Amino acid sequence: AAEEGFDIEDVEGAIEAAGHGPLPVLAVVGRPNVGKSTLVNRIIGRREAVVEDKPGVTRDRVTYEAEWAGRRFKVVDTGGWEQDVLGIDASVAAQAEYAIEASDAVVFVVDAKVGATDTDEAVVRLLRKAGKPVVLCANKVDGPSAEADAAMLWSLGLGEPHPVSALHGRGTGDMLDAVLEALPEAPAQTFGTAVGGPRRIALIGRPNVGKSSLLNKVAGEERVVVNELAGTTRDPVDELIELGGVTWKFVDTAGIRKRVHLQQGADYYASLRTAAAVEKAEVAVILIDASESISVQDQRIVTMAVEAGRAVVLAFNKWDTLDEERRYYLEREIETELAQVAWAPRVNVSARTGRHMEKLVPAIETALAGWETRVPTGRLNAFLGELVAAHPHPVRGGKQPRILFGTQAGTKPPRFVLFASGFIEHGYRRFVERRLREEFGFEGTPLHISVRVRE
Ligand code: GDP
Ligand code: GDP
Repeated sequence: AAEEGFDIEDVEGAIEAAGHGPLPVLAVVGRPNVGKSTLVNRIIGRREAVVEDKPGVTRDRVTYEAEWAGRRFKVVDTGGWEQDVLGIDASVAAQAEYAIEASDAVVFVVDAKVGATDTDEAVVRLLRKAGKPVVLCANKVDGPSAEADAAMLWSLGLGEPHPVSALHGRGTGDMLDAVLEALPEAPAQTFGTAVGGPRRIALIGRPNVGKSSLLNKVAGEERVVVNELAGTTRDPVDELIELGGVTWKFVDTAGIRKRVHLQQGADYYASLRTAAAVEKAEVAVILIDASESISVQDQRIVTMAVEAGRAVVLAFNKWDTLDEERRYYLEREIETELAQVAWAPRVNVSARTGRHMEKLVPAIETALAGWETRVPTGRLNAFLGELVAAHPHPVRGGKQPRILFGTQAGTKPPRFVLFASGFIEHGYRRFVERRLREEFGFEGTPLHISVRVRE
């Protein structure tokens, strides 16, 4: 039935749009300057290229949501990362490694005007080993006369080169059709959840915060490299670790071990690994060095986990080194610098002494519980009704927009759709989110709230 001016199709459509689970991931890889970022902008229709005006967010954003022919997926732009710090070959190898581990399909971009270079050939070998579906994009084919350049790329052995001009949009539709054929409906990892495999934890944090120390401490002798288990050879970097009587899968722990040969560009490499680990995990344990000031890099890692929609636990490490003064300043810094995750459970640990290790699992379980919470529609609307009556939206231009009703469209993380009679201001949305959290918990999880306005 129509509710307050929304017809049922609007409502169902909005719920479906908001309620999708994890999306399949498409990685766009290739040498510098072949046109990866241009292509990503083309794929996402530039809609999302302008994101929040928080400093650091736009620049570091690497994952975008896209839609083609009614299907939604994520696109990872590896082009914006600081590739100058590495040699070209190391940087594309790192991208390819990312694509291998964290994506469900790959668009490999080659500059058709230049042709296949040795570096391109090296990437092809890496991609082939990975076994992920690859769509070959022959870019910079701006007109028919360049089609022959594209055809030369059959020599790469990746099948049909799709002639594209990312700059002008030529050929991108056909290429995206091929991408949809290559992409699975859902990311591979969700199948693991469906069959009730171990929960997946990404232990992340900037270099030297103590990730490998923590991993060694919690794992003790128990660690099992998943590679050694039958049938899991595709994932050589995940480890099964028993904590608190439960087996957990720590994803991408290879990224935690030191890479001695990669001294230059270690930050770039680390950010790739972090993005890959977050993509594969359900919950991110973000390790922060409590002995040092919270940095922009810490904040970027937090943003990555939040934007990916993962459950989040904050672990402040090296607690053994803190004096009273540092503890005082740390609390102030947490309030100002980590406000975006004020809802995350927090543990103060020392990987060195073992302090509070036993608190880690309960915090992870709390965050996962929040992440999976579902609020029945009746309870949600009783709550919204009271909220709107007690705290109406401010009057704007003689009108008072009102939230009419709402529903939870999905979990992991919780996604809500609110239906309103007019534009709901940002501040009021934040207020609603805060009250939702007060009422229903949601500890350790980002919330997605979208508002549909009756036309
Ligand atoms: P990335 O380093 O791989 O992300 O490459 P960019 O997207 O930054 O593009 C590198 C340069 O190639 C820029 O100057 C783009 O304008 C240009 N470019 C990208 N796609 C095309 C294309 O389809 N045709 C032409 N002629 N130039 C392009
Ligand atoms: P990663 O780069 O994040 O894996 O960090 P590591 O585990 O390699 O640790 C970096 C440095 O911090 C090493 O010298 C560790 O011994 C030290 N460290 C790690 N955890 C602690 C801790 O809880 N207390 C103290 N005092 N030092 C620690």
